[in-house]
Amino acid sequence: MKVIGLIGGMSWESTALYYRIINETVRARLGSLHSARLMLASIDFQTIERLQHAGLWEEAGELLADNARSIQAAGAQNVVLCTNTMHKVADRIASAVGIPLLHIADPTGAAIVRAGHRRVGLLGTRFTMEQDFYRARLQTQFDLDVLTPDADDRDVVHRIIYEELCLGSVIDASRHAYREVMARLIARGAEAIVMGCTEITMLIDASDSPVPLFDTTHLHAVAAAEWSIQDE
Ligand code: GLU
Repeated sequence: MKVIGLIGGMSWESTALYYRIINETVRARLGSLHSARLMLASIDFQTIERLQHAGLWEEAGELLADNARSIQAAGAQNVVLCTNTMHKVADRIASAVGIPLLHIADPTGAAIVRAGHRRVGLLGTRFTMEQDFYRARLQTQFDLDVLTPDADDRDVVHRIIYEELCLGSVIDASRHAYREVMARLIARGAEAIVMGCTEITMLIDASDSPVPLFDTTHLHAVAAAEWSIQDE
């Protein structure tokens, strides 16, 4: 079994889900008492959030690259960055180490293509929804048409992530707000919704949407586990 290298804490609420899903996947595949081999570098999210909102992506990238070097030195054989947003600096992290980075958009895009969808709605932080680093990967590598909510809806989706979900607070009114945002994306032609933030899975599930949901936390964590046991 290869050693997975998680960079988490962004937020730890979703990193805890990664830990559970990875271990559940390894146990389901290998049976008995098997569990995952992994290294976790957990970042103080307050530091990252300040750098993000100040636009200091270079500094954030360097901080994460340092943590990637640490887990590599500790024996990790890949890098799994437990956040969609910080994939903005994925290249910076990958170039700092000699082990592969398992990009979160790749298992997500592959699952959407497998399910036969072409036009998807994307929910995530404002950075993920508005900038090109994530959408472009889904568009160019998986030939998907990616719709994002309008500006007011993007504000709602972003605020709920930072002010509620990353603090562990799951509120019914916010679930209702997400349902409405998704309904507007579906009315514009979205055939499926990408839960492109690793905390969104705490708030909504399939019962909240008339179209399929693609949960990046689950898809990324399962891909990490499968990568680790592929030779078993
Ligand atoms: N976990 C979130 C994501 O998947 C947001 C927190 C962050 O900005 O890293 O994008």
